[in-house]
Amino acid sequence: MRHTKIFSEWMKRAAALLLCLCMALSLAACGENRKVTREIYAMDTVMTLTAYGSNADAGLDAAESVIFAMEAMLDPELPTSTVYAINHADGSSVVVSAQIARMLTTAKTVYDQSGGALDPTVYPLVKRWGFVDQKYYKPSEAEIAEDLSRLCFDQMTLTSFPSSGSYSLTIPAYGQLSFGAVAKGSAAENAIDAMRQAGVQSGIISLGGNVQTLGLKPDGSLWKVAIQDPENPDGYVGVISVGETAVVTSGPYQRNFVIKGVVYHHIINPATGHPSGSSLRSVTIVCEDGTMADCLSTAMFVLGETKALNYWRQYGGFEMILITNDDRIVLTSGLLEDFTLSPDAGKYHVVYSE
Ligand code: ADP
Ligand code: MG
Repeated sequence: MRHTKIFSEWMKRAAALLLCLCMALSLAACGENRKVTREIYAMDTVMTLTAYGSNADAGLDAAESVIFAMEAMLDPELPTSTVYAINHADGSSVVVSAQIARMLTTAKTVYDQSGGALDPTVYPLVKRWGFVDQKYYKPSEAEIAEDLSRLCFDQMTLTSFPSSGSYSLTIPAYGQLSFGAVAKGSAAENAIDAMRQAGVQSGIISLGGNVQTLGLKPDGSLWKVAIQDPENPDGYVGVISVGETAVVTSGPYQRNFVIKGVVYHHIINPATGHPSGSSLRSVTIVCEDGTMADCLSTAMFVLGETKALNYWRQYGGFEMILITNDDRIVLTSGLLEDFTLSPDAGKYHVVYSE
C-alpha cells in the first residue's frame, strides 16, 4: 500500500517536471529564436524584413506600416505626398513631419561638408535623364544647364514648431527636391525603431541593399552582411561582421542605361549635371545612423576615392568600403577586424586606409 502511494507521488512529480520541461522547451521554441521573415515591395525595390522572438509578427507589422507610410509621404510623383506638395508650393511654405525635417538636416550637413556632392534639389536632372519614368534620355548641354540653375538646397528654410513637433519648409519656386538618396536609409532607421517599440530585440532589414540591424543575432553573435560584387549581382566580394548599425551601399550598377556603349547611371554629380564620373564601382557606409549612412553613400560616391577618404578623416563617425575601378577594396581602419574577403573575390585585393 505504502509503496503504491510513494510510487504514485513519484509519478505525479515526474509528470509535473516533464510538463514544466515541455513548457520551457516550447517557450524557447516560440521565444527568442523564433524567426519571421517577410518580403515587401516598396520605394521601387524589394525589401526583406526579419525579426526574432515572440514579438516578431507585431514588429514586422509595425515596420511594414512605417515603410509604406514613408513611401506615401516621400514619392515626388504622387500628388498626395508631402514631397509633391513641397515641389508644387510655388515658393510658399509647407508643413513637414519630424522624419522629413531629420532627413533635410542630415542631408544639409552632408551637403555642406561635401561641397554639395549630395543635393536633393538635383531632382530635375534625375528626372531629365529618365530615372523617374524609366524613359532614359541623354539631355543636351542646354537642358542640363537649365536644370543646374534650379539647384537651391542652400536656399531652403526649415522652421521648427516645438510645441507640435512639426516643421515648415520653404524652397524657391523654381526648385524641386526628392529624397531618392536618403529615403531608404531613413525608412530603414524608422522601421527598426518601430520594431524595437513593438518589443523586438533582434532583427535585420534590407531595403534594396540598405541593411539595418536591431541588436545582435538571437544567439548573441554579430550579424554578417555581404558586400555585393559591383560587377556580378549574384556574387559578393566579402562579408562584414557588425553589431547594431546601418550598412548602406551606393553604386552605378544599381540603376543605369547604355547608349552606344556608354553607361549612364542614376547618381548625378550636381557640379556637372551628368552621371558622376567616379573612380569607384561602389561605396558601402557603415554608420549607426541609417539616414546619415544613406546620405554619405551617395555623397562619397560622387566625391570619389581621394576626397571620400579625406572626408572620413576630417569628419569621421562612420566607416567605409570603397570598391575602386582598379579592383581594390579600400577599407577604412575601423573595419580592420570586421571584413572577410570572399573566396570568390577573384581579382579584388584589400587595402587599408588610415
Ligand atoms: P540607391 O537609391 O540605389 O540606394 P543612392 O542612395 O545613391 O542609391 O541614391 C541615388 C538616388 O538619389 C537616385 O536614384 C536619385 O533619385 C537621387 N540622386 C542622384 N544623384 C544625387 C545627388 N548627387 N544628390 C542627391 N540625390 C541624388
Ligand atoms: Mg544614398
